[in-house]
Amino acid sequence: MKENIMGIDVCRYNYNDLSTILIENIDKKQKSFIVAINPEKIMKAQEDQELKKLLNSADYQIPDGVGIIIASKLKRGNIRDRVTGIDMMLRLCEEAANNNKRIFLYGGSPGVAQTAKQELERRYPNIKIVGTIDGYEKDEQLIENAINESKADILFVALGSPKQEYWITKKMNQLHPTVYQGVGGSFDVISGDINRAPEVFQKYGLEWFYRLLKEPWRIKRQMILPKFLISALKK
Ligand code: UDP
Repeated sequence: MKENIMGIDVCRYNYNDLSTILIENIDKKQKSFIVAINPEKIMKAQEDQELKKLLNSADYQIPDGVGIIIASKLKRGNIRDRVTGIDMMLRLCEEAANNNKRIFLYGGSPGVAQTAKQELERRYPNIKIVGTIDGYEKDEQLIENAINESKADILFVALGSPKQEYWITKKMNQLHPTVYQGVGGSFDVISGDINRAPEVFQKYGLEWFYRLLKEPWRIKRQMILPKFLISALKK
């Protein structure tokens, strides 16, 4: 169920398939690490073997970003729909609420995870968010203890990339949760600190364009997309 794009594995699952699999994995206690793949990460991994290994070591690489869909098309692959990090997280929250699974939020500036928790509780009344810790806490032992004592099944880690992915691989085997997802700035979006692009932008895969209008300094990061597509075409 995976396709290889410039040396990086990407899953063909959609939101439905993956959320069902992940809830089953919790019942089977099968550790699962989800990483969002975008052109920026693939380009970085071309020059960073450690990052490449890390991304490929995840259990589920989701196609986050329209660039991945175009690259799959170019190589006659079958990935047609994006599975974004934040929407996967929200979907997983919904499924966890329906299946009585416990969630922990780790990362973001002080207070953000707590506000995100309240917002998620408003959206999914049955959700069980059993703990939060901000991403600037230095005491690793305290973080580990809080996560383990909460008996969470799902841990969302929002430390930015690739910091969160390195953190997850280092810790997941000694922590209680079964499912781990690196979610970047998602707590900021959920808590309302950052507005998401309006739906028409989302629908047409133009969130990058909206972000560019709002935060023009992102142009440097976004220039990666054309470079990525040219490289994907060459390969
Ligand atoms: N962050 C954190 N601890 C750190 C560095 C960053 O909790 O040591 C948080 C930061 O507050 C922000 C998120 O990580 O909420 C990174 O968001 P960004 O949108 O930059 O992530 P990306 O998905 O682009 O990697």
